Amino acid sequence: MRFDVFSLFPQVIQPYIDSSMLQRARENQLIEVNLHNIRDWTTDKHHVTDDMPYGGGGGMVMKAPPIFEAVESVLGAPPACPLILMTPQGRPFSTAIAKELAALPHIAILCGRYEGIDERVREHLVTDQISVGDYVLTGGELPAMIIIDAVSRFLPGVLGDPTGAEDDSFSNGLLEYPHYTRPEVFREWGVPPVLLSGNHAEIARWRREQSILRTMKNRPDLLKDKDQSSS
Ligand code: SAM
Repeated sequence: MRFDVFSLFPQVIQPYIDSSMLQRARENQLIEVNLHNIRDWTTDKHHVTDDMPYGGGGGMVMKAPPIFEAVESVLGAPPACPLILMTPQGRPFSTAIAKELAALPHIAILCGRYEGIDERVREHLVTDQISVGDYVLTGGELPAMIIIDAVSRFLPGVLGDPTGAEDDSFSNGLLEYPHYTRPEVFREWGVPPVLLSGNHAEIARWRREQSILRTMKNRPDLLKDKDQSSS
Protein backbone atom coordinates (compact mmCIF):
# COMPACT_ATOMS: atom_id res chain seq x y z
CA MET A 1 0.00 0.00 0.00
CA ARG A 2 1.25 3.49 -0.80
CA PHE A 3 0.99 6.52 1.51
CA ASP A 4 1.84 10.07 0.38
CA VAL A 5 2.07 12.64 3.17
CA PHE A 6 2.02 16.40 2.59
CA SER A 7 3.37 18.43 5.50
CA LEU A 8 5.41 21.47 6.47
CA PHE A 9 7.42 19.31 8.89
CA PRO A 10 7.96 15.92 7.19
CA GLN A 11 11.19 15.53 9.18
CA VAL A 12 9.17 14.73 12.31
CA ILE A 13 7.56 11.74 10.56
CA GLN A 14 10.76 10.30 9.07
CA PRO A 15 12.24 8.76 12.26
CA TYR A 16 8.96 7.04 13.04
CA ILE A 17 8.68 5.31 9.68
CA ASP A 18 12.39 4.47 9.89
CA SER A 19 11.81 2.41 13.06
CA SER A 20 10.54 -0.99 14.10
CA MET A 21 7.51 -2.51 12.34
CA LEU A 22 7.01 0.26 9.79
CA GLN A 23 10.64 0.17 8.76
CA ARG A 24 10.38 -3.61 8.32
CA ALA A 25 7.15 -3.25 6.35
CA ARG A 26 8.87 -0.74 4.07
CA GLU A 27 11.91 -2.99 3.61
CA ASN A 28 9.58 -5.87 2.72
CA GLN A 29 7.77 -3.59 0.25
CA LEU A 30 4.45 -4.06 2.02
CA ILE A 31 4.13 -0.30 2.40
CA GLU A 32 5.66 2.69 0.65
CA VAL A 33 5.64 6.05 2.47
CA ASN A 34 6.51 9.18 0.51
CA LEU A 35 6.95 12.39 2.50
CA HIS A 36 6.50 15.73 0.69
CA ASN A 37 7.39 19.14 2.08
CA ILE A 38 4.71 21.61 0.95
CA ARG A 39 7.32 24.38 1.19
CA ASP A 40 9.05 22.90 -1.87
CA TRP A 41 6.09 24.05 -3.97
CA THR A 42 6.22 27.75 -3.00
CA THR A 43 7.22 30.12 -5.79
CA ASP A 44 8.17 33.27 -3.85
CA LYS A 45 11.66 34.18 -2.66
CA HIS A 46 10.92 33.55 1.03
CA HIS A 47 9.03 30.26 0.52
CA VAL A 48 6.01 31.53 2.42
CA THR A 49 3.40 28.87 3.20
CA ASP A 50 1.09 30.78 5.60
CA ASP A 51 -0.54 34.17 5.90
CA MET A 52 -2.83 36.20 8.14
CA PRO A 53 -6.53 35.26 8.19
CA TYR A 54 -9.00 37.40 6.25
CA GLY A 55 -11.37 38.97 8.76
CA GLY A 56 -8.64 39.26 11.39
CA GLY A 57 -8.02 37.19 14.49
CA GLY A 58 -4.96 35.47 15.85
CA GLY A 59 -2.85 32.80 14.24
CA MET A 60 -1.80 32.09 10.69
CA VAL A 61 -3.52 30.11 7.97
CA MET A 62 -1.80 27.74 5.53
CA LYS A 63 -2.06 29.16 2.02
CA ALA A 64 -3.95 27.26 -0.66
CA PRO A 65 -1.57 27.63 -3.70
CA PRO A 66 1.44 25.61 -2.45
CA ILE A 67 -0.87 22.86 -1.16
CA PHE A 68 -2.67 22.56 -4.51
CA GLU A 69 0.66 22.66 -6.37
CA ALA A 70 2.19 19.98 -4.15
CA VAL A 71 -0.76 17.61 -4.26
CA GLU A 72 -1.48 18.03 -7.98
CA SER A 73 2.13 17.64 -9.05
CA VAL A 74 2.52 14.41 -7.05
CA LEU A 75 -0.96 12.90 -7.48
CA GLY A 76 -2.36 14.62 -10.57
CA ALA A 77 -5.47 16.76 -10.91
CA PRO A 78 -7.83 15.57 -9.61
CA PRO A 79 -5.70 13.48 -7.20
CA ALA A 80 -5.40 9.82 -8.18
CA CYS A 81 -6.23 8.62 -4.65
CA PRO A 82 -8.24 9.78 -1.63
CA LEU A 83 -6.70 12.86 0.02
CA ILE A 84 -7.37 12.85 3.75
CA LEU A 85 -7.09 16.06 5.74
CA MET A 86 -6.02 15.62 9.35
CA THR A 87 -8.34 17.86 11.34
CA PRO A 88 -10.04 17.82 14.75
CA GLN A 89 -13.22 18.55 12.77
CA GLY A 90 -13.07 15.25 10.84
CA ARG A 91 -14.76 11.88 11.39
CA PRO A 92 -13.35 10.20 14.51
CA PHE A 93 -10.65 7.66 13.64
CA SER A 94 -11.42 4.06 14.64
CA THR A 95 -10.58 0.43 13.89
CA ALA A 96 -13.40 0.41 11.33
CA ILE A 97 -11.87 3.35 9.46
CA ALA A 98 -8.36 1.80 9.67
CA LYS A 99 -9.72 -1.39 8.04
CA GLU A 100 -11.61 0.64 5.43
CA LEU A 101 -8.40 2.49 4.46
CA ALA A 102 -6.30 -0.69 4.55
CA ALA A 103 -8.45 -2.04 1.71
CA LEU A 104 -7.25 0.77 -0.57
CA PRO A 105 -4.02 0.57 -2.61
CA HIS A 106 -3.07 4.22 -2.09
CA ILE A 107 -4.02 7.12 0.19
CA ALA A 108 -2.63 10.61 0.69
CA ILE A 109 -2.63 12.56 3.94
CA LEU A 110 -2.53 16.33 4.33
CA CYS A 111 -1.20 17.70 7.64
CA GLY A 112 -2.27 21.13 8.80
CA ARG A 113 -0.36 23.51 11.09
CA TYR A 114 -1.08 26.86 12.79
CA GLU A 115 -4.81 27.76 12.72
CA GLY A 116 -5.33 25.25 9.92
CA ILE A 117 -5.63 25.49 6.14
CA ASP A 118 -7.40 27.84 3.73
CA GLU A 119 -10.96 26.56 3.48
CA ARG A 120 -10.71 26.26 -0.33
CA VAL A 121 -8.34 23.31 0.14
CA ARG A 122 -11.00 21.54 2.20
CA GLU A 123 -13.71 22.41 -0.33
CA HIS A 124 -11.94 21.68 -3.62
CA LEU A 125 -9.03 19.29 -3.01
CA VAL A 126 -9.57 17.16 0.08
CA THR A 127 -11.83 14.09 -0.23
CA ASP A 128 -11.97 12.95 3.42
CA GLN A 129 -11.34 14.43 6.87
CA ILE A 130 -10.22 12.47 9.90
CA SER A 131 -9.74 13.42 13.56
CA VAL A 132 -7.68 11.40 16.03
CA GLY A 133 -9.65 12.63 19.03
CA ASP A 134 -11.48 15.48 20.65
CA TYR A 135 -8.44 17.58 21.47
CA VAL A 136 -6.31 19.96 19.42
CA LEU A 137 -2.68 19.24 18.53
CA THR A 138 -0.22 21.72 17.06
CA GLY A 139 -0.01 19.86 13.75
CA GLY A 140 -1.29 16.98 11.64
CA GLU A 141 1.97 15.01 11.67
CA LEU A 142 1.23 12.93 14.79
CA PRO A 143 -2.27 12.15 13.45
CA ALA A 144 -0.73 11.14 10.09
CA MET A 145 1.64 8.76 11.89
CA ILE A 146 -1.32 7.32 13.79
CA ILE A 147 -3.20 6.66 10.54
CA ILE A 148 -0.20 5.10 8.76
CA ASP A 149 0.60 2.92 11.77
CA ALA A 150 -2.95 1.73 12.49
CA VAL A 151 -3.74 1.11 8.79
CA SER A 152 -0.47 -0.76 8.17
CA ARG A 153 -1.25 -3.22 10.98
CA PHE A 154 -4.20 -4.48 8.91
CA LEU A 155 -2.08 -5.21 5.83
CA PRO A 156 -1.18 -8.87 5.36
CA GLY A 157 2.37 -9.66 6.52
CA VAL A 158 3.02 -6.40 8.39
CA LEU A 159 2.63 -7.95 11.85
CA GLY A 160 4.87 -10.86 12.76
CA ASP A 161 1.89 -12.68 14.28
CA PRO A 162 -0.05 -14.58 11.57
CA THR A 163 -3.37 -13.90 13.34
CA GLY A 164 -2.57 -10.25 12.65
CA ALA A 165 -4.52 -7.52 14.39
CA GLU A 166 -7.69 -9.59 14.72
CA ASP A 167 -7.05 -10.42 18.43
CA ASP A 168 -6.30 -6.84 19.37
CA SER A 169 -8.59 -4.51 21.28
CA PHE A 170 -11.61 -3.21 19.32
CA SER A 171 -11.36 -5.76 16.48
CA ASN A 172 -14.15 -7.88 17.99
CA GLY A 173 -15.75 -4.99 19.88
CA LEU A 174 -13.92 -5.82 23.14
CA LEU A 175 -10.67 -4.84 24.84
CA GLU A 176 -7.97 -7.48 24.65
CA TYR A 177 -7.21 -9.87 27.56
CA PRO A 178 -4.10 -9.41 29.80
CA HIS A 179 -0.68 -10.69 28.73
CA TYR A 180 2.17 -12.14 30.81
CA THR A 181 5.69 -13.26 29.96
CA ARG A 182 8.70 -14.59 31.88
CA PRO A 183 9.54 -14.62 34.76
CA GLU A 184 6.73 -16.77 36.09
CA VAL A 185 6.95 -15.00 39.47
CA PHE A 186 8.02 -11.38 39.72
CA ARG A 187 8.14 -9.67 43.17
CA GLU A 188 5.86 -12.43 44.46
CA TRP A 189 3.29 -11.72 41.74
CA GLY A 190 2.62 -14.96 39.90
CA VAL A 191 1.19 -15.56 36.44
CA PRO A 192 -2.44 -16.80 36.50
CA PRO A 193 -2.11 -20.62 36.78
CA VAL A 194 -4.46 -21.28 33.84
CA LEU A 195 -1.89 -19.78 31.47
CA LEU A 196 0.64 -22.39 32.61
CA SER A 197 -1.82 -25.28 32.36
CA GLY A 198 -1.29 -26.08 28.68
CA ASN A 199 -5.09 -26.50 28.38
CA HIS A 200 -5.89 -24.46 25.28
CA ALA A 201 -9.67 -24.57 25.71
CA GLU A 202 -9.37 -23.33 29.32
CA ILE A 203 -6.93 -20.63 28.29
CA ALA A 204 -9.28 -19.45 25.52
CA ARG A 205 -12.21 -19.38 27.98
CA TRP A 206 -10.17 -17.43 30.57
CA ARG A 207 -9.03 -14.92 27.96
CA ARG A 208 -12.58 -14.36 26.72
CA GLU A 209 -13.80 -13.80 30.32
CA GLN A 210 -10.95 -11.39 31.06
CA SER A 211 -11.67 -9.55 27.85
CA ILE A 212 -15.31 -9.05 28.83
CA LEU A 213 -14.47 -8.08 32.44
CA ARG A 214 -11.87 -5.58 31.31
CA THR A 215 -14.25 -4.05 28.78
CA MET A 216 -17.01 -3.79 31.43
CA LYS A 217 -14.60 -2.02 33.77
CA ASN A 218 -12.79 0.32 31.35
CA ARG A 219 -15.10 0.76 28.36
CA PRO A 220 -18.72 -0.23 29.14
CA ASP A 221 -19.79 1.85 26.12
CA LEU A 222 -18.25 -0.81 23.84
CA LEU A 223 -20.49 -3.52 25.29
CA LYS A 224 -23.56 -1.37 24.70
CA ASP A 225 -22.49 -0.84 21.06
CA LYS A 226 -21.88 -4.60 20.67
CA ASP A 227 -25.36 -5.41 22.07
CA GLN A 228 -26.96 -2.95 19.71
CA SER A 229 -25.09 -4.23 16.66
CA SER A 230 -26.04 -7.87 17.43
CA SER A 231 -29.74 -7.14 18.18
N1 SAM B 1 -8.02 25.82 14.38
C1 SAM B 1 -8.26 24.42 14.15
C2 SAM B 1 -9.61 24.02 14.76
O1 SAM B 1 -9.97 24.57 15.78
O2 SAM B 1 -10.27 23.12 14.19
C3 SAM B 1 -7.15 23.58 14.78
C4 SAM B 1 -5.84 23.74 14.10
S1 SAM B 1 -4.56 22.75 14.82
C5 SAM B 1 -3.81 23.90 15.93
C6 SAM B 1 -3.37 22.60 13.54
C7 SAM B 1 -3.45 21.32 12.73
O3 SAM B 1 -3.20 20.22 13.58
C8 SAM B 1 -4.77 21.03 12.07
O4 SAM B 1 -4.90 21.70 10.84
C9 SAM B 1 -4.72 19.51 11.90
O5 SAM B 1 -4.03 19.15 10.71
C10 SAM B 1 -3.90 19.07 13.09
N2 SAM B 1 -4.73 18.54 14.19
C11 SAM B 1 -4.86 19.10 15.42
N3 SAM B 1 -5.64 18.35 16.20
C12 SAM B 1 -6.03 17.28 15.47
C13 SAM B 1 -6.85 16.16 15.73
N4 SAM B 1 -7.46 15.99 16.89
N5 SAM B 1 -7.02 15.24 14.74
C14 SAM B 1 -6.42 15.40 13.53
N6 SAM B 1 -5.63 16.47 13.24
C15 SAM B 1 -5.44 17.40 14.18
